[in-house]
Amino acid sequence: CGIIARIGSDDAADTLLTGLENLEYRGYDSAGIAVQNGSGVKVHKTSGEVSDLKSKLNYLPTGNVGIGHTRWSTHGPPTEENAHPHTDSAGDVAVVHNGVIDNYAELRTELAEKGHVFQSDTDTEVIPHLINEYRQELPTEAAVRKAVETLEGSYAIAAIVEDEDRVYAARKGSPLVLGLGTDDWFLASDVPAFLDYTDEVIYLEDGDVVVLEPESYEITDLEGEPVHRETDTVDWDP
Ligand code: GLU
Repeated sequence: CGIIARIGSDDAADTLLTGLENLEYRGYDSAGIAVQNGSGVKVHKTSGEVSDLKSKLNYLPTGNVGIGHTRWSTHGPPTEENAHPHTDSAGDVAVVHNGVIDNYAELRTELAEKGHVFQSDTDTEVIPHLINEYRQELPTEAAVRKAVETLEGSYAIAAIVEDEDRVYAARKGSPLVLGLGTDDWFLASDVPAFLDYTDEVIYLEDGDVVVLEPESYEITDLEGEPVHRETDTVDWDP
């Protein structure tokens, strides 16, 4: 399983699909991407392989901000509905997640009582609904942080939001690496996802929250305090 996110000056979809292929070695049963292009978040997903996802896409969706996922099912069978990205009811927030949310059942009950409609059997789907719920009173970054604080379990998460040129991400107990390219920035479960584009990386740690913008990135802790992480150059033989 794996996640990837990418923000840059040109379309993200092709890079996301290549990144997912480069994460195939981790094993998976479904795949999907979502991109944001200023007129909403578009989600494309399928059970099966990245090649199945590619053949389902008649054209590559446009948008310079995107996330992608290969799923190793833990909650719910490997169907299209259970494939990531997952969204809130309005489809404004899309999330990919690796890991397991231990308190998803309680959260799902609470959110359903507030009118949220769920479309999958996954533990993950509570995350976009939580972000949506908190966004009604908070700026998105604070809403993401509050959502992450509410989660129990393990996660590497990346989220995109309608009309925002940003990727939000967080990790606890699942790997997440930031890739610093020249024209584009990445987040992924592992370095091979973006090694075609950059070998400058920052290995994130548990409790880190990241906001990527086209020309900048910010790493903070769960309280919102800035965190400094060293940049590494990946050593590899082509
Ligand atoms: N627990 C989530 C699910 O079953 C994520 C699985 C994964 O890490 O791929 O959808």
